[in-house]
Amino acid sequence: MARIDMEDRNRFVPAVVPPAEREEAALWFAFLGNQLLVHLDSDSVRLPYLGDFSELGLPHQGQHYLGQFDGHACYAVDLPEGTAAPPGMGYEGLRRIYGRLEEALFWLAGRAVQIVEWDRTHRFCGRCGVPLKTRPQERAKECPQCGFLHFPRLAPAVIVLVERGNQLLMARSRHFAQGVYSVLAGFVEPGETLEEAVEREVFEEVGIKVKDIRYFGSQPWPFPHSLMIGFTAQYAGGEIKINHEELEDAGWYTADRLPGQPGKISIARRLVEWFLAKQGRSSLPS
Ligand SMILES: [Zn+2]
Repeated sequence: MARIDMEDRNRFVPAVVPPAEREEAALWFAFLGNQLLVHLDSDSVRLPYLGDFSELGLPHQGQHYLGQFDGHACYAVDLPEGTAAPPGMGYEGLRRIYGRLEEALFWLAGRAVQIVEWDRTHRFCGRCGVPLKTRPQERAKECPQCGFLHFPRLAPAVIVLVERGNQLLMARSRHFAQGVYSVLAGFVEPGETLEEAVEREVFEEVGIKVKDIRYFGSQPWPFPHSLMIGFTAQYAGGEIKINHEELEDAGWYTADRLPGQPGKISIARRLVEWFLAKQGRSSLPS
């Protein structure tokens, strides 16, 4: 149930500097906005596997080397607006390809889209406005005038499963699909520790205090550039008071009476599975 198991993790070796010579074809993660160009097979999708992206005859910009997956070089490229997909190919949003592309490649696509998006949105120095230069040896851009360095942007967010005896806290935001509930999550603010962010978020959203905050695991969340840092915590006091700016509903649930669950793609789902296992319940249906 782990996001990327160790075996998968070892299959990808990240790098910034492309190999000087390459005989085999490479995997191409080409994005039109945040949509990935893929070969459309019946149930699954495939990535373009080509010596050079230009073989597809599409214009592209900003070629970024990502590293090697199973020994194959991987690149991310940005396609200009309006680029039509070649026959048999199409553009798909990342959430729509989850489960249709090998899981390890799905997360690699999440990495690729963040690098392309960073490249697109960091063209000029935020301090003095001149065009930035890409640093060849690292994932960074440098201002040729003032020397300011710009790195890919990440927004850390905490996500926490709060337990009270045999119950867990679940809530729904008005942005969720009908009937779906999840555990609480929110962005970390400047100057906060992760534990402080957990305490603040839970208190802000439902007015309860928590204790025994324990690290659970993390997950990149490329929508558009978050890192979800998962925790478990114990109820420490207070009654649920829903912050309606953020939530539509919230409540305590036992393992045998859970509301609609978040998708398999999310660490929220893994947290709930962890809770179910602890309660001696089998995991959720897929
Ligand atoms: Zn500058």
